[in-house]
Amino acid sequence: MIRINPANIGMEGECLSGEEDSSFLDLASFPQDIQAKGPVKYALHASLAGRDLLVTGRAEVSLLSPCAVCLEETEYRLANEEICIHVENVPMDGFYDLTGDIRENLLLNMPMRIKCRENCKGLCPSCGANLNEGECSCGKKGARGKKKDSPGKGENTDWSALDQLKF
Ligand SMILES: [Zn+2]
Ligand SMILES: [Zn+2]
Repeated sequence: MIRINPANIGMEGECLSGEEDSSFLDLASFPQDIQAKGPVKYALHASLAGRDLLVTGRAEVSLLSPCAVCLEETEYRLANEEICIHVENVPMDGFYDLTGDIRENLLLNMPMRIKCRENCKGLCPSCGANLNEGECSCGKKGARGKKKDSPGKGENTDWSALDQLKF
């Protein structure tokens, strides 16, 4: 739990930093298979203006997710460098729990699609090859306008037969 005691915040404010187990992000609620790799790291500064609590700073966590295009496991750094939490009339008689606000501030920056690279080429629709790792032979055939049953140089007839078997 990331929490702060407003009654203890001095004139200069109070700095809060550390790591928090990322389970509070509740990533299972996302339709994609996203997992946290390590804790949420945060560095915050809290100050009081009258009874209003203002917390600013940043938080980040490394995520693992399949690329939305090619399905390769991809690491994504989810961060919010401009966290801003404003609580009016904060209760002064105990700790205020910031965890929910931090979660909200972080998930605001969750992209619609996590991709392994900006221009991921994805998978070949006919053979399933990862096109980021190089062109598959389907693409080459298409580009040269060759028929499937006329193997070109370097292509083995047996492999062409296999291609036909797949689709
Ligand atoms: Zn990809
Ligand atoms: Zn292919």
